[in-house]
Amino acid sequence: MYRPAVARKDSQQIEKMAAAGDLLARCLKMLRAKARAGVTTLALDAAAEKFIRSQGAVPAFKGYRGFPGSICASPNSMVVHGIPGAYVLQRGDLLSIDVGVILDGWVADAAITVPIGPIAEQTERLLATTRQSLFEGIEAARPGNHLGDIGAAVQAAVEREGYYVIRSLVGHGIGQEMHEEPQIPNYGKPGRGIKLQTGMTLAIEPMVAVGTAEVRIGDDGWAVYSADGSTAAHFEFTVAVTDQGPRILTPWHLD
Ligand code: MG
Repeated sequence: MYRPAVARKDSQQIEKMAAAGDLLARCLKMLRAKARAGVTTLALDAAAEKFIRSQGAVPAFKGYRGFPGSICASPNSMVVHGIPGAYVLQRGDLLSIDVGVILDGWVADAAITVPIGPIAEQTERLLATTRQSLFEGIEAARPGNHLGDIGAAVQAAVEREGYYVIRSLVGHGIGQEMHEEPQIPNYGKPGRGIKLQTGMTLAIEPMVAVGTAEVRIGDDGWAVYSADGSTAAHFEFTVAVTDQGPRILTPWHLD
């Protein structure tokens, strides 16, 4: 089986990615605080772009394959790749916010899903499960493990709660390009796939829906929805594989 080379980064390069990632984590925390009922996703996009540029960085998504936004804003049954726009957030919504930044030539990519006001208890459980699956996935991002260990860990965390991993969308290597080798499915078998090595930098991003593993593409050619219209969630970290274990480069979970 053909396995393309995966670029490994040295410690200086990883520090550069961590600087991009720190900026990105601060951006996501700012957006999390702003994401309230009555706010449009376009307003979040504007706030993100302003913040990123104020820090001397560039929004990585803007113009990427023609994408018009600085963030992806994907409510409810939209899984990913929502174009920010006139949509007004409502109480009870779930909103995935995905952001990429380029700082000094290095890219970081991360996403959170946030509740807008009080949400249904089952939606809370989807949120908690998807977030937990990301943490279980990154725990497997260690030298000597295999790529399949990450996917298997994510999949197990999702399926034990009865939810579905979206099959056609994957995480990815990241570095000087937003999308590098390898592709990182959110399902898999332990011990399968390439061996993980120190210096690999990976964007791990479980995308999970309540009722299906399938998706459909929206009329704008970007938005990806769960095929059955059920609610979806998405969390992402950029992570470095190090001798000390997984290092989260986009620490949106820390206060
Ligand atoms: Mg990504």
